[in-house]
Amino acid sequence: MKVPFLDLGAAYRELKPEIDAAVARVLASGWYILGEEVEGFEHEFAAYTGAQQCVGLANGLDALHLALRAMDVGPGDEVIVPSHTFIATWLAVSQCGAVPVPVEPDARTYNIDTARIEAAITPRTKVILPVHLYGQPADLDPILAIARKHGLRVLEDAAQAHGARYKGQRLGAHGDAVAWSFYPGKNLGAMGDGGAITTNDSQIADRIRVLRNYGSRVKYINEVQGYNSRLDPIQAAILRVKLAYLDEWNARRSVIAGNYMQALGVAITRQSPPSLILPHTPDWAEPVWHLYVVQHSHPKDLREELAYAGVGAMVHYPIPPHLQKAYAALGYVQGQFPVAEQIANQCISLPIGPQLTERAVTEVISAFEVAINRSGCAAQTIW
Ligand SMILES: *Cc1c(COP(=O)(O)O)cnc(C)c1O
Repeated sequence: MKVPFLDLGAAYRELKPEIDAAVARVLASGWYILGEEVEGFEHEFAAYTGAQQCVGLANGLDALHLALRAMDVGPGDEVIVPSHTFIATWLAVSQCGAVPVPVEPDARTYNIDTARIEAAITPRTKVILPVHLYGQPADLDPILAIARKHGLRVLEDAAQAHGARYKGQRLGAHGDAVAWSFYPGKNLGAMGDGGAITTNDSQIADRIRVLRNYGSRVKYINEVQGYNSRLDPIQAAILRVKLAYLDEWNARRSVIAGNYMQALGVAITRQSPPSLILPHTPDWAEPVWHLYVVQHSHPKDLREELAYAGVGAMVHYPIPPHLQKAYAALGYVQGQFPVAEQIANQCISLPIGPQLTERAVTEVISAFEVAINRSGCAAQTIW
């Protein structure tokens, strides 16, 4: 049995009649930019996250970028970002002409290490930009306290964390603004690109509404040099269908993560010393398992063995932003952010998703047990 890393077609097949009807409704409406469908989704997603406002945008990168613009981030400013994240977090900062200032992640949760944030603050710092990576909330309370103390804004990158809770409360309005992506593979995924901002700050919401539509509130009257970054109504209609299933689908991910945790935990106790590290969830975090990421001393061998058994595994992410050619101008060198580098060198993501069958999960687990013994590293220590 082959188990692909992700099967997006399966998500469509599960909801086909509803999605087809939603798309047909938009096509028949004769209204194809913004309008009722986008507003409907904005209201429903705001209500879901508990935020007062939601603004639908073209994608997650734009959500980050426009939120930073709405916070007046520009040339000469610095924004604190995790050294371990998808590159979009950094690119949004660069697109404003500002400089991303990396802070190492916590080696166990993979999210920004809040104890290291203050050391990175300078007179130029304007925003702290934590990422809720792999679906697990970052430790927001200390971040918000540091921001208050230094007069900084907080923008959350929640592109991987739709529905996750921090200390019992859904992500959506802890910081000044929260950026979302509806890229197809995300927990709440469209069938094309999509993004949004949620916030309780009506000034930020208002500015982003203007920025997304050519800097215009009234047609052909342009207040600022804006962008074209509008959520497409067809995608909004699809997202409205899928939002109703988000909690159920997240719960399925959670069951799979639990199965992995238990089975791979047994595999670990058989090794001494352990060469495998499973995800760690702090007790205040309710993650939504966008990805299930383990660390291993020989991830390449492990991935090859898994591929041999027909199991698709991936790496999120193989090269940290500070070592990408795109950021060569910042002058960072290998070894400068060792925690991020170690995660990049050792992490491996197993298949997880709401349509992954029980049989497929069993298959992944048995393939993993074989792979870990064959990758010739079961008895090596990595730390
Ligand atoms: C997917 C993602 C983004 C960007 O979203 P797009 O919709 O692809 O632009 C930003 N940050 C993180 C952490 C992501 O995973």
